[in-house]
Amino acid sequence: MISNRALFLKNTAQTSSSPRLFEIVKAEGIYLYGPKGERYLDLVSGFNVSNIGHRHPQVIAAIQQQLEKYLHVTVYGEFIQAPQVAFATELLKTLPSSFGSVYLTNSGAEAVEGSMKIAKKFTGRRQIIAARNAYHGSTQGALSLIGNPAYHEAYAPLLPEIDFIEFNNIPSLALISEQTAAVIVETIQGEAGVQVPTVEFMQALRRKCDETGAILIFDEIQTGFGRTGKMFAFEHFEIVPDVLMLAKGIGGGMPLGAFVARKEIMDVIKDNPMLGHITTFGGHPVSCAAALASLRVIQNEKLLETVDAKAALFRKELDHPKIKEIRGKGLMMCLQLETFDQVYQVSTFCAEKGVMIDWYLHCETALRVAPPLTISDDEIKHACGIIREGLEKFA
Ligand code: PLP
Repeated sequence: MISNRALFLKNTAQTSSSPRLFEIVKAEGIYLYGPKGERYLDLVSGFNVSNIGHRHPQVIAAIQQQLEKYLHVTVYGEFIQAPQVAFATELLKTLPSSFGSVYLTNSGAEAVEGSMKIAKKFTGRRQIIAARNAYHGSTQGALSLIGNPAYHEAYAPLLPEIDFIEFNNIPSLALISEQTAAVIVETIQGEAGVQVPTVEFMQALRRKCDETGAILIFDEIQTGFGRTGKMFAFEHFEIVPDVLMLAKGIGGGMPLGAFVARKEIMDVIKDNPMLGHITTFGGHPVSCAAALASLRVIQNEKLLETVDAKAALFRKELDHPKIKEIRGKGLMMCLQLETFDQVYQVSTFCAEKGVMIDWYLHCETALRVAPPLTISDDEIKHACGIIREGLEKFA
């Protein structure tokens, strides 16, 4: 019989020439399981998706209840679907009152595309400013914002009138002007190897957008839903964006994204022409039911209150001479080593010992640590012990 591994390599599209090739047959809580009974403590959370762990019972129950009612019924925005309404309403309650409208999508990149469209239409301007080393998704619009030419060349021409600031660099904000429709940044840059900006930079960015009338759009696709110890990372900087883009952790493990905006900004897409921004599956009712359950888990289990102490325990347990720096906020962490070879060897060793870690798209010399927020102190100590062992052997 042909193995799943051979069929995976033969029949499913490959996104790199060296996929990690772990086969997963089940996932529960903070663990992933392989076909031969392998068990991996998951420090990646499916890339910041499983903030409440895998298959949380309340998410499974909400999915099952929705399965009994309906799956897809029609395109987004036409019929009243209770799971969409309930989730959007609860989501808005977690945000400052300036946010007034939620557009539900399938994915993060789709939220990015919609956000760019409302900003251009609302302002009547064309220029969009993004930050170098950003990652906002792989569709052609989102890819235009990536700020790393290696990802552009084969796909040119991408969107025109995109310019780049240096992230966390106040002088480069001079690029923002009355021509700028929107400035799009990750609140904390993820794939750049978890770059946390200063409060001064973020407040200067907000001021500059206010002065020029540019729409400030924050990508909280990695940072949202408790990952950094606040429901949304912008809360660390005491500023509020005009548009917020969400995905990954929003759906409790189900595919969903959203962009949330001030009502008058969102309203520009409903006419001239009408139906100028639509999606078939965006805001799928099953995903929305899961998202509402997941939001309630974060709130009812008071997960935000536990994040800082867990992050501090990680930092204490990972105080090791081979780690040059630990960057991050809350449970979005990045362990800076020296070479990709070290990162590869340490993460391969950790997987052999049952701990799953990874690295970053634009920063292959650092280990990615972003466990479910539900991880216990004992699990943190165990995982860090394995990472230390790997560092001793391979770094
Ligand atoms: N924005 C950020 C910060 C991301 O990390 C990602 C995905 O990794 C995206 C956008 C794109 O989201 P998706 O893969 O759901 O399209």
